[in-house]
Amino acid sequence: MAVEETAPVGAEDASLQDAWERVRRRLRAELGEDVFSSWFARLEIAGIVGGIAYLTVPTRFLKSWLEAHYAERLRVNCIAELPAPKGVLLSVRQASRDTTPAPLAEAVMRSRPASSTTPVPAEAAKPGAATAQSGEPELVDVCGTTLDRRMSFQNFVVGKSNQLSFAAAERIAAAPAGQSPYNPLYLHAGVGLGKTHLLQAIAQEARRLGKRVAYFTADRFMYGFVAALKSQTALAFKEKLRGIDLLVVDDVQFIQGKSIQQEFGHTINALLDAGKQIVVAGDRLAGELEALDERIRSRLGGGLVVEVGELDEALRAKILATRLEALQSAHPNFQVSPDVVAYVARVVATNGRDLDGAANRLLAHATLSGQFVTLETAEAAIRDLVRTREPRRVKIEDIQKLVATRYNVSRADILSERRTAAVVKPRQIAMYLSKALTPRSLPEIGRRFGGRDHTTVLHAVRKIEKAISEDRSLHEEVDLLKRMLQE
Ligand code: ADP
Ligand code: MG
Repeated sequence: MAVEETAPVGAEDASLQDAWERVRRRLRAELGEDVFSSWFARLEIAGIVGGIAYLTVPTRFLKSWLEAHYAERLRVNCIAELPAPKGVLLSVRQASRDTTPAPLAEAVMRSRPASSTTPVPAEAAKPGAATAQSGEPELVDVCGTTLDRRMSFQNFVVGKSNQLSFAAAERIAAAPAGQSPYNPLYLHAGVGLGKTHLLQAIAQEARRLGKRVAYFTADRFMYGFVAALKSQTALAFKEKLRGIDLLVVDDVQFIQGKSIQQEFGHTINALLDAGKQIVVAGDRLAGELEALDERIRSRLGGGLVVEVGELDEALRAKILATRLEALQSAHPNFQVSPDVVAYVARVVATNGRDLDGAANRLLAHATLSGQFVTLETAEAAIRDLVRTREPRRVKIEDIQKLVATRYNVSRADILSERRTAAVVKPRQIAMYLSKALTPRSLPEIGRRFGGRDHTTVLHAVRKIEKAISEDRSLHEEVDLLKRMLQE
């Protein structure tokens, strides 16, 4: 296979699909059917740009897992079969309904009418051409992200913890272009509390009202931008972005890479300066988005900042009931009594995502057993969801494996007596993480690291603590490892 950098190849390309099939066959042969079907079955190729193969998976967890455990194998096999000498980049694709990523050219910029699948012609790459005067409401969807119709304002259940964010979202969606009451809007909250739901609702409602909307997840933004850069349509991409009324960016904490961050910053600045509406969501306060430029952080933090709070029990019950109703419209025989709803809402106390999970479990249980859902069957069906409510137990072995993969050493190296710098640093990080993330004592950790003394562990913990406080990139690195382990 040619290893030259060539023009971008989209997922629809038949020879790419053949080559991808060969990659899959290799992986299956090397790893065995079990491993393959657990981790690789849902891996898809979105295209190749600039010698990098863009692969996608449906969940963040899968992405972290593949990166932690199979990065090298994936890279080697992709390089062997694909015109991707620079390796692979994994990202999380949009939720289940969007299983086939849009072809590359379209992913970069898709314009209405939605039925037209013709990529934007090269002409449009000229600055200015993006605002073509076709009379059509162009640019409905800059990045080709498909929005989930269920994530609407109508389906959003309002309670104490989210009423402020809901009200702000509704007003922004309804305000005439250029006359937004709050700009930018920055929403922040932990996982599963409704950020994405609100963002998608804003985007859909604004679009319904005829506004030009671009909706990105951080992954999509990076992907769209990189693709545009490589196919030399970056200028057009930026022009397109500047032609919109509303930019929505979800999970902004995942924007990474220096040039992308800069571009993201320019884009936000340019749009805000032009009076365009920006809505951004993240998992932390704007000021804590370490990856972003100080100016952007303060611009995001300087608009309306709303935290979406934890869901209380009443709110959980309502959300669950709404969910179950939706499932019932497709499965008329599926009945759940109010007792069961109340019970599940009480014990699944985490977030909306787990409530979705619980609703699906109940349905699966009812369908498989052919019986009504009783309190008892409900308890059995959601037992493991309730268990995951406790903070995830991290195992020392997992820490060692993950850290080893991250630093390109083997787990045996970490446990060994070797004292070369290449091994010492990951070993100390792994010890530090073991202390930070597990309830194990220092002597126990020492034993699990090849029978070391507890003072060695203590030394490692102190050393890494100090290094982290002095070195920001190490801090981020360790933080990422922590998050991956706890996810
Ligand atoms: P986040 O983006 O904050 O992680 P999501 O918006 O993806 O969370 O929410 C997770 C799930 O919970 C989604 O299915 C969403 O529709 C649902 N959900 C969260 N909050 C609400 C709410 N207030 N009303 C209805 N559904 C909700
Ligand atoms: Mg989200």
